[in-house]
Amino acid sequence: MGGFAQSSYYFPDEKFNPAIPSPEEFLGYPIGDWHTRYDLIVKYFEKLDQISPNAQIVTIGYTHERRPKIILTIASTGNLSNLEQIRVTQLQLADPSQAKPDVSKMPAIIHLGYGVHGNEPSSAEAAMLSAYWLLASQSELAQNLRENSVVHIDPTVNPDGRDRHSLWANSNKGFPPVADPLDREHNEAWPAGRTNHYWFDLNRDWLPLAHPESQSKIAWYHQWYPNVTTDFHEMGTNSTYFFEPTKPFGSENPVVPRKNYEDINVRFAKYFAEYMDEIGSLYWTKEVFDNSYPGYGSTYPDIQGGLGLVFETASSRGHLQSSQRGPISFAFTIRNQVVNSLATMEAALDNRVYMHDYLREFFETAVSEGQKDAAKNYLFGDEFDASRTQLFVKFLMDHKIKVYENTNDVNLGGYAFKKGKSYLVPTAQPQYRMVRTMFEEVKEFADSVFYDASAWTMAHAYGMPFANAPAAKVGNQLQTLPSSSFDFPSGKAYAYLIDWSDYYAPKLLFELQKEGIHLEQVGQPFSAETQIGARDFSAGALMIPMGFQSLDAEKVVELLQKHAKSTNQQVFAVKTGMNLKGIDLGSNLVGAITKPKAIMVVGPGISSAEAGEIWYLLDSQVGMPITKVNSDQMARVNLFDYTTLILPSGNYSDFSERTIAHLKDWANRGGTIISMKTASLWLNRIELTKESPVIIEGEAKDSNSLAFGDRGAFEGAKEVGGSIYMANLDLTHPIAFGYHRANLPIYRNSSIFIKPSSDKYLTPIRYVENPYLGGYISKPNLEKLKQSASVIISKTGQGRVIHFFDSPNFRGTWFGTNKLFLNALFFGDKMD
Ligand SMILES: [Zn+2]
Repeated sequence: MGGFAQSSYYFPDEKFNPAIPSPEEFLGYPIGDWHTRYDLIVKYFEKLDQISPNAQIVTIGYTHERRPKIILTIASTGNLSNLEQIRVTQLQLADPSQAKPDVSKMPAIIHLGYGVHGNEPSSAEAAMLSAYWLLASQSELAQNLRENSVVHIDPTVNPDGRDRHSLWANSNKGFPPVADPLDREHNEAWPAGRTNHYWFDLNRDWLPLAHPESQSKIAWYHQWYPNVTTDFHEMGTNSTYFFEPTKPFGSENPVVPRKNYEDINVRFAKYFAEYMDEIGSLYWTKEVFDNSYPGYGSTYPDIQGGLGLVFETASSRGHLQSSQRGPISFAFTIRNQVVNSLATMEAALDNRVYMHDYLREFFETAVSEGQKDAAKNYLFGDEFDASRTQLFVKFLMDHKIKVYENTNDVNLGGYAFKKGKSYLVPTAQPQYRMVRTMFEEVKEFADSVFYDASAWTMAHAYGMPFANAPAAKVGNQLQTLPSSSFDFPSGKAYAYLIDWSDYYAPKLLFELQKEGIHLEQVGQPFSAETQIGARDFSAGALMIPMGFQSLDAEKVVELLQKHAKSTNQQVFAVKTGMNLKGIDLGSNLVGAITKPKAIMVVGPGISSAEAGEIWYLLDSQVGMPITKVNSDQMARVNLFDYTTLILPSGNYSDFSERTIAHLKDWANRGGTIISMKTASLWLNRIELTKESPVIIEGEAKDSNSLAFGDRGAFEGAKEVGGSIYMANLDLTHPIAFGYHRANLPIYRNSSIFIKPSSDKYLTPIRYVENPYLGGYISKPNLEKLKQSASVIISKTGQGRVIHFFDSPNFRGTWFGTNKLFLNALFFGDKMD
């Protein structure tokens, strides 16, 4: 039987219960021969659930492409029948306000997570083998684990990406296999399988929760508070294997207790080393991999009283690939992940009581440290944007942060916090360390090289005004999410008005445009007599003039009412065009809004992350279809069919002369280009725009002579890896419509520094004098940044380019700056 040979490679000298089918018996091929399709992984786990009294499967959610997200739970029959009580006891342990349960009797809660990166496929195969071993092995360790732990296995955190990659690897497999790294099998096409459906890296999403895969995962996580969580990855083919501890201080998160890094990691690492020594596999620790950003699957658990563990194996990327140590097979990489899965379970079992005590201590110290925090309470809320405020409240509550009502109107830190429109987060609560993650600015670093973002103040991402409010009177705790609903004005109207301040105003605009309703934009502030009396509108308000509709008035009202309700927008009616203050409704500063039709360039050379952020924003928050054209198809595009061309960061040097001539012609005759970072450098190169880089007088030259060994650190320090700055908005410019405060936090992850426009009206967003709000940046780069623009507009004949040098849609979580991008999309033709 083939299964025997396979078992002897992965599990030498073990006896298995023959009633449980091995993955090979179930699938019909030895593990490592193929990249197993996700539906077959699910089927195998369903089979285990059917056959074994020790296994139980649940579906916790669905991916964008409707693949089920499953967890297989393995435990003794006694513990499985008592699972709900075990879960409740674990929650009680994590809640310092409840009596501490007797931990000596509690099973270890182990969470084996695999495959967050779709093209790091060894881990999901290892998930099947680990589940099989745990259910079928007759070894003392496996029996002991079944008896004294509850093991939750998530075989694939990112099923959509997994299948994208598996299809590639399987369909390019040769017989015999080709180990040459240049073979097509080892070189996936753009956008590759690492990311999810919208090209987002889910191993950044445990904090932002922008996607259903992470939303369901975090909801599940907080039902269990596992003592240990694994996160298996792959790296370059010439590498070996990495396990924690990560780099001391430089790669650590500032809110995680030192004990996690200095004691617990060391206890576990001993087991990983032993298991890897046993099979003669090479490995390393304490270098390279970052463990600081809270949105990693291996860092979030560290901020929840557990231990998060990252593992990285050399990748065969494909079924067999040459390396400096000879050919690396898929099976070899799978075995690395299997032995570390077993090592994790053994370490968790041996440290069962210790880890339970730590979980309790973690949340107890969170409360006591929170009591000492001088902020006492964070007060937040945007009086002009109920939807964005509600999104932030939901976000905090998804992370189990307790949020309370603010019962008074308070002016603090330059902001007005209105009763009913603002909320309080006390620091003295079990999730105090997540509270810090949401509100604190991180400005001190032990290192200058970052694998990723070095700033994650989520209140800034949501553009949320907030202040320390030590003396605040705290109202009731929110049990459900706040909501708002509005009465629709009755009677005949001369025009309807909609404020542009709310996060979902663009969605309503687009819904109405799709219905064929004629809308105009009021380009300056005004006051009007409405159904609720006099009301002030800021620049950018939408107006529906009832005398200029092609649909019947009744139909317009019906559609307006329907869409205003679904987007939660308040509609105001006026009976006259004569306003109380400011411009009137027929002013020359009022104009028709063109329905945008956008096309975005994607494909090889283009940043899939940035393109994915734009695609997801338009899909999920606006409901707007966007044409994604592959860069090699540009020659076929007639840009005159579109209002707007979106160029994400990337390399456009493959565009032909003919394509460039067409693009220039279209831009000169009125087209709008939205250009991101490096795309703007290309537009400069083809001389469509002529913007200038910031050069600092006497800029320090690189020293001529540095130690070879310092290269990584020195070069890395020059990058702007991801940090937060305060920008200054020109509130009279259409890009800032809907904003009420000139100051706005923005996210930057590029080192492109471009001077303000030579046209003094066309740099609507620059930085304040001291813009730094957190994250790593070198001193010379900060000096350059202060002299740079964040957004500029370049005229191109009748058209224009709107350049973004920052990231308004970063990770689907910068709700505070999304509107800058949407303004460019909806009002681009009004911006120059
Ligand atoms: Zn990875």
